[in-house]
Amino acid sequence: MGEPFDRLMEVQLHDTTLDQLRHRMDALPEREALLEIGTRQRALAAATADVGAQVDDLAGRQRSLEGQIAAAAKRRHDIEQRMLSGDSYAARDLQAMDQEVQHLAARQAQLEEEEIALLEEEEPLDQLLADHQATADVLAAEAARLGAAIAEAEVEITASIATEEAERSESAAGLPPDLAERYQQLRSHLGGVGAARLVGDRCDGCHLTLSSVEIERFRHLPPDQFSTCPQCDRILVH
Ligand SMILES: [Zn+2]
Repeated sequence: MGEPFDRLMEVQLHDTTLDQLRHRMDALPEREALLEIGTRQRALAAATADVGAQVDDLAGRQRSLEGQIAAAAKRRHDIEQRMLSGDSYAARDLQAMDQEVQHLAARQAQLEEEEIALLEEEEPLDQLLADHQATADVLAAEAARLGAAIAEAEVEITASIATEEAERSESAAGLPPDLAERYQQLRSHLGGVGAARLVGDRCDGCHLTLSSVEIERFRHLPPDQFSTCPQCDRILVH
């Protein structure tokens, strides 16, 4: 068998290559890796927001304590000023003022201790936020690397597809329309392979052996006629 069946086999080879290229384009391993990075980035962002909320809460409590410390200090200062002003106070009043000054000093010291405890509580959270940021930076760099690798592969595969499509149209241009149509129908139903060669006594499409009667029948076909594989129905080129 020669034309147009050798030409048909060329078209089949180009179609198989095109199928492989399109599959490669869809199944780039970097695409899956990038999706995985995205999942990790979202989980990290959620965890970071959670820690951030805890830090904000501590900061709010710290501001409240500082307000109370400042108020106690001011009141203490005011009383001390009054005691030092030279105004004459009854001994009982002076004693009460002195007691309040001591009470305010004790309260201020207690509030300051509470503030220190808050700062100690915040320390590991700040460290955690720094760790999260470092991880986020690593993930962002990896995502950028994968994105660039995908873009590069896409350019390369797109160019290969264009070349292959041009060669395929050149080969397909010389096919008789009925043969081309039959081939397309079979190809769409049979996993992309519409035409196969007879190799020895085996169909190269389904890899099954044909009986000697069938082989004889193929041998005696006129050169311009084709038959299909009795097992898989593909156009069989011998
Ligand atoms: Zn077959």
